[in-house]
Amino acid sequence: MPRHYTGVGGRAILRSPRASKTRDVSTYAIPTAATPAPLSSAQRLTDSHGRAITDLRVSVTDRCNYRCVYCRTGNDGAQYSELPLDDYLRLIRVFVSLGIEKVRLTGGEPLLRRDLTTLIREVAKLRTSHAPDGTPLKDGAGKMLDLAVTTNGHLLAAQAQSLREAGLTRVTVSMDAVDPDVFARITRVPGSYDRVLAGVRAAKAVGLGPVKVNCVLLRGFNDDQIVPFVHFARSEGVILRFIEFMPLEEDRIWSPDTVIGYDELKARISAVRPLVPLRGNAPGETAQRFTFDDGIGEIGIIAPVSRAFCGACSRVRLTSDGKIRTCLFSQMDHDLYSVVHRGGSDEDLAAYIRNVIEQKEARHHIGEPGFLKPSRSMVHIGG
Ligand code: SAM
Repeated sequence: MPRHYTGVGGRAILRSPRASKTRDVSTYAIPTAATPAPLSSAQRLTDSHGRAITDLRVSVTDRCNYRCVYCRTGNDGAQYSELPLDDYLRLIRVFVSLGIEKVRLTGGEPLLRRDLTTLIREVAKLRTSHAPDGTPLKDGAGKMLDLAVTTNGHLLAAQAQSLREAGLTRVTVSMDAVDPDVFARITRVPGSYDRVLAGVRAAKAVGLGPVKVNCVLLRGFNDDQIVPFVHFARSEGVILRFIEFMPLEEDRIWSPDTVIGYDELKARISAVRPLVPLRGNAPGETAQRFTFDDGIGEIGIIAPVSRAFCGACSRVRLTSDGKIRTCLFSQMDHDLYSVVHRGGSDEDLAAYIRNVIEQKEARHHIGEPGFLKPSRSMVHIGG
């Protein structure tokens, strides 16, 4: 498919001719200068189902240096553009003024983005705008954001120190095997396991911890890694999260049979040692957390398919090209960046965001008759 480069904000970006279903800002009324939306308005972002939206995931690039076989076809590269980092910063600032407390930078592969530390340094200066109960706070009275990065870890060893110095608080590394050969077969990058392991260790060494390791399980593909992974997590001192495979891949390989559901997974982990449940850290937490009877290690099970947690969803996503996605399984994007393009003010952006959040879906419909795959796959949304 032909692609071309174009300049936005003085930077060369990759632009794709592929159209994604996007709702244009012209379908919303943008307040005029005479009727600005107050930026630190009283009510924090809340959707029409009463859920407070406090968690923002921002994809800072659509590029990825891995071609994980369950995620990508391996034939396509980046499909969507990326914005200048200043634009992400502006959008994040507006989201934070509306009640976002947790910002996760992702991609694509976020560590491919040059000057990512500059963005992190600026985001780390932001403070929450609302108290945990939703009460608006005076300027400067908020606390630091929970600022994290999700990465495949390939470039982490080299960047961990500078990410930490820039103000990053923690990192989540995606690993889908602990056997180096299986790992390389999944990522399609030779030597990737050693690179990622070095990244995990470097992150721990510089204090980007506790490091979380996320593993997506597919039946008959990497589920033989469950037990070795548990031993790995206990000996490396990382928090392990097993995640159910969702129909978000570029290809069409998902079926209900590929998913290792919550009950089966828990039983298979228990084969190592008896599991002891841990209390949740926060409302809206997606993982069911456990330790073992000897108190060593923490394992989480994230089961969006067999135990959907949509009722407690607090998330919104911003794609690399500046579109809002209200659910991983949304059928359309909302073009926030078009407000920037048209010279909109921060108040215009805030009004647009509020309007979009109102439309957040109640839940996903994975596994139900008539389920439609989302309009973008995981790598192009930002996981
Ligand atoms: N490159 C970064 C990384 O590897 O973590 C960030 C982007 S990656 C798309 C984010 C996460 O999505 C990874 O943990 C990946 O395993 C997960 N993921 C990708 N496709 C998935 C799927 N179909 N179901 C569940 N998780 C998926």
